[in-house]
Amino acid sequence: MASLSLKNINKVYPGNVTAVKDFNLEIADEEFIVLVGPSGCGKSTTLRMVAGLEAITSGELYIDGQLMNKVPPKKRDIAMVFQSYALYPHMNVYKNMSFGLKLRRVPKSDIDRRVHEAAAILGIEDLLKRKPGALSGGQRQRVALGRAIVREPKVFLMDEPLSNLDAKLRVQMRTEITKLHRRLKTTFIYVTHDQTEAMTMGTRIVVMKDGVIQQVDTPQNLFDHPANKFVATFIGTPQMNIIRAKLTPREGKMYAVFGENAVRIPDLTVKRLKSDIYIGKDVYLGIRPENLSDEAEFVAENSLYSFEAKVDMTELMGSVTYLYFNVNGVEGNLVASVDPRTRTQAGQTLRVAMDPARLHLFDAETEENILFDE
Ligand code: ADP
Repeated sequence: MASLSLKNINKVYPGNVTAVKDFNLEIADEEFIVLVGPSGCGKSTTLRMVAGLEAITSGELYIDGQLMNKVPPKKRDIAMVFQSYALYPHMNVYKNMSFGLKLRRVPKSDIDRRVHEAAAILGIEDLLKRKPGALSGGQRQRVALGRAIVREPKVFLMDEPLSNLDAKLRVQMRTEITKLHRRLKTTFIYVTHDQTEAMTMGTRIVVMKDGVIQQVDTPQNLFDHPANKFVATFIGTPQMNIIRAKLTPREGKMYAVFGENAVRIPDLTVKRLKSDIYIGKDVYLGIRPENLSDEAEFVAENSLYSFEAKVDMTELMGSVTYLYFNVNGVEGNLVASVDPRTRTQAGQTLRVAMDPARLHLFDAETEENILFDE
């Protein structure tokens, strides 16, 4: 049981490298918080400051209301699982899991109970006598988790714990860690660069870039209401299409004009504009691949929101087909995620339409979302 409070936390490494800038976050008890962002954005540094493995340059860290800045790691009542499992090769699984407790002089019977309970949760009871060398990657990962569980910590910290596993095992362990969180009812803070991992595991996600928090939100809100163009394109695959366009009023209606195209901006969306200053200016129009369609009926119904596309390549993914296409006035490829039964082929020119309820607009300079949430 633990709540955490990170207030105005900064980390400056020697050589004046600012790794984390003015980080503010309140974490409630039992939350599963995921820190996500590209490599080098300060996720690990933040986690390591919570663990006490890295000094906080300025700002305050509280766990359950107590200031932790100067408290050594072992007194913080947290357990950390790393990417490299850091198991002792000469000790068997039982010893690897119990070693930390022994150092803390936990009574033997208590240690035994905790190790067996953790092993049961993780399904590794049969492996307790094996040494790490005789375990698969997934089994080693479970032992590393087991070593954290036996500590019965207030907070679990995990730094890319799945990145050494193959794709299939990663998906499986993802579910297991989510279940583990539900079962243990403890606060989890999890670091990953993988947005799918973040979206599927986190109850709330912290998106970081260059040491700065971009948005803290639920997976659904991050997806539906990204705070800026960075979050919009970081979350979701394939990434959101971004089109630089001029917001142009014509005869009482609003259009986004790019190249020879003018697509209507629905009145309801225009009403959500945070300011009139964008009218007549360049903005970024965002549309997710799954909100574009090549279906004749949809395109006919939404012709106001359609434009001509020259298809470059198609990619059958199984449940969907990706159409990569070029559009007059847009640099680079756009992508639509469509029905796999589509007849559309590379080389074809056709109209694709946007779902008008799913448009995003961003400031061309600050890249901030310029629409109020509906
Ligand atoms: P992430 O976990 O998001 O990949 P890190 O927290 O590891 O990012 O790193 C954030 C920034 O801090 C990077 O620019 C990195 O090069 C720098 N950094 C990390 N550790 C050190 C260190 N010990 N000394 C100097 N700079 C560091």
